[in-house]
Amino acid sequence: MAESQRVGDLPEDVDTDDCMTSYTHIYSPDLLKDQVAFITGGGTGIGLRIAEVLMRHGCDTVIASRNLEKLKEAAKKLMAATGRHCLPLTIDVRQPQTISAAVDETLKDLGRIDILINNAAGNFLCPATSLSFNAFKTVLEIDTMGTFNTSKVVYEKWFKDHGGAIVNISATLGYRGQALQVHAGSAKAANDAMTKHLAVEWGPSGVRVNTLAPGPISGTEGFRRLGGNRADSMGAFSSIPLQRAGNKTEMAHSVLFLASRASSYVTGHIMVADGGSWLTSANDVSMLLGIASSQSAKL
Ligand code: NAP
Repeated sequence: MAESQRVGDLPEDVDTDDCMTSYTHIYSPDLLKDQVAFITGGGTGIGLRIAEVLMRHGCDTVIASRNLEKLKEAAKKLMAATGRHCLPLTIDVRQPQTISAAVDETLKDLGRIDILINNAAGNFLCPATSLSFNAFKTVLEIDTMGTFNTSKVVYEKWFKDHGGAIVNISATLGYRGQALQVHAGSAKAANDAMTKHLAVEWGPSGVRVNTLAPGPISGTEGFRRLGGNRADSMGAFSSIPLQRAGNKTEMAHSVLFLASRASSYVTGHIMVADGGSWLTSANDVSMLLGIASSQSAKL
């Protein structure tokens, strides 16, 4: 297992899908004591680190996605690192009946849901001309309809009568029309609108709905596919105001704020956590096409 690294003011993180070997609390360790969080895509990448950080604040979690073996392995690591309970459940966010069954099982086993993190997403680079109709539709189905499906099931089965906090994981791709990302950018833009619609409709039931939009985050599949490691060594992040990529723990800390009572009067908000990246980074089609073709050559 890789060692956790804490550099300066940055929180610890590890680049792999492992838990951190050490962790320094910023918030009170019992901020989420005995709460339950349902995290889609919680077995890998940013979702796994979100699960870990919420658990390190006293929360039990459900991590839910398609690959049960991967989820079971992740749950084992999460429980060993945090001492809290983690239930791995199979869902496909495109199929509401699978979500419904998983939420029933969560309520039976853990008795409540306080937090929903809509993190599951499809992820690849592709120019619009090469993108099949089906590929575009699939990304919309996972990212956008998946977020709606999961939010609606959790709302109807629990949040409607008990309140809760929803945090959607978005992206900044649509802000400037990021090259090779029309599918993900369109899907996340729809989710940002959904955040506001649901915040308005569900606020009276005590449900807060917010979004975190990460920039380039190290130790993730998205970062690897975008050539992040190479870009880092070539100094490409010097164009970002904060001059570096973010790490997964930083994203988890932003989610912790939005999911907890630390943000009790915040709803309908899109919080960008990208070091200022979208304001200044290049949106260069030829450069990104170069990355995309070098990635597909490796596949
Ligand atoms: P990741 O590791 O690839 O995570 C995606 C997760 O979604 C996987 O655990 C996958 O698990 C799950 N998933 C995919 N399709 C699903 C489906 N149909 N039903 C249920 N679960 C499904 O990616 P990541 O980089 O950590 O990204 C996490 C989130 O952050 C995403 O919303 C992404 O758009 C956003 N984001 C990431 C970055 C970045 O730099 N990495 C930047 C901006 C935004 P299974 O395969 O088991 O289903």
